[in-house]
Amino acid sequence: MRIAVMKETHLGEKRVPLIPLTADKLVKLGAELVIESGLGLSCRFADADYEKVGAMVSSSRNEMLQSADIVLRLRKPPVEEVELMRKDCIHISYLDPFNEAELVELLRRTEISAISLEMIPRSTLAQKMDVLSSQANLGGYAAVILGAEHLDKIFPMMTTPAGTIKPARVFIIGVGVAGLQAIATAKRLGAVVEAFDTRPVVEEQVKSLGAKFVKIDLGETGQTKDGYAKALTPEQLALQKEGMAKACAKADVVITTAQLFGRPAPRIIDNKMLAEMRPGSVVIDMAVETGGNVEGSELDKITEINGVRVVGFGNLPGRFAETASQMYSANLGNFVEHFWDKEQKTFHLNCNDEIMKGALITHKGEIVSEMYKSIINK
Ligand code: NAD
Repeated sequence: MRIAVMKETHLGEKRVPLIPLTADKLVKLGAELVIESGLGLSCRFADADYEKVGAMVSSSRNEMLQSADIVLRLRKPPVEEVELMRKDCIHISYLDPFNEAELVELLRRTEISAISLEMIPRSTLAQKMDVLSSQANLGGYAAVILGAEHLDKIFPMMTTPAGTIKPARVFIIGVGVAGLQAIATAKRLGAVVEAFDTRPVVEEQVKSLGAKFVKIDLGETGQTKDGYAKALTPEQLALQKEGMAKACAKADVVITTAQLFGRPAPRIIDNKMLAEMRPGSVVIDMAVETGGNVEGSELDKITEINGVRVVGFGNLPGRFAETASQMYSANLGNFVEHFWDKEQKTFHLNCNDEIMKGALITHKGEIVSEMYKSIINK
């Protein structure tokens, strides 16, 4: 079975989908592996490193796409490349399906079996393939490092002959995977950390990391069966803002990570709250790519609002491209291995498997994802 791995073309993207360690694993499974020349260069992996483990190297993107049984890549495929792939080709990547209805329709029409890695269920079994978790984890780390870089103060407390320096105060809104890593990283750097999430179940996790959970009574909130937050009502959002304002005003760095599955991110911090913050403090909006948690934040920009620096950088995991690639590549390798028939040396697209049921969007000319259909048809 021929697996082609495409070099990433998105401007500024340094992550690579497959590193030589995972290439070795796929070759050992019995796959005929072809990587595009230059695939790993942004992370300093040479073509020869892939050849050493038995992969072939090609400079013809068209030929690779036309001959592949499986195509692996990082980001969604460009439209013109979908048309080059063979009918029944299995395409595995990030797909961002809820924002890419036209692309999904094209994948359906061209009879590609498109697997969206973001849609892998958040189950214990699927954890080793969960790209959302591995990249969000790094994103949380990167957000704290960015906050520390843009704050004019240091994070830890210091007792020096020149006096005592107070620790920085960091407030984290949204305690999923990214938020938990942000708490842990800010604590390691010595900050005093507070956090809030609409899912009350995270309170224990926040405390176990040594941070304080900010309590705001929003009434009934809860989570979906997959553990995702439910959207708040406008009244609840207003109550949340009121409660958040105090914690934000005390903070030197605020990191927002709040997301709603398949929907735009909730707007949590408005200009009024920013105006109550101390000039010189920093807000990192980790949700800037999905609509933003912070009023006025702009993608890939630092915006100064009332003296507060609002940092809206996208692709935070990509700032640590080598680690991010290592993790993405391992997730991808584990996904392929999970469905690999070791005797036949083929990928078995098992539509009855729970993980496949979650991640497969289009198959044999149909849109098969129930989750996609339910959200897109709302
Ligand atoms: P996410 O990226 O969807 O959202 C980030 C956080 O924002 C969530 O904790 C959410 O509750 C919070 N949020 C949403 N609206 C908010 C608001 N108005 N104010 C404050 N916070 C708000 O979350 P995620 O990191 O992808 O995790 C989603 C779920 O999946 C969690 O329950 C997590 O524990 C679970 N998970 C399970 C596994 C596993 O079992 N294998 C792996 C990873 C994540």
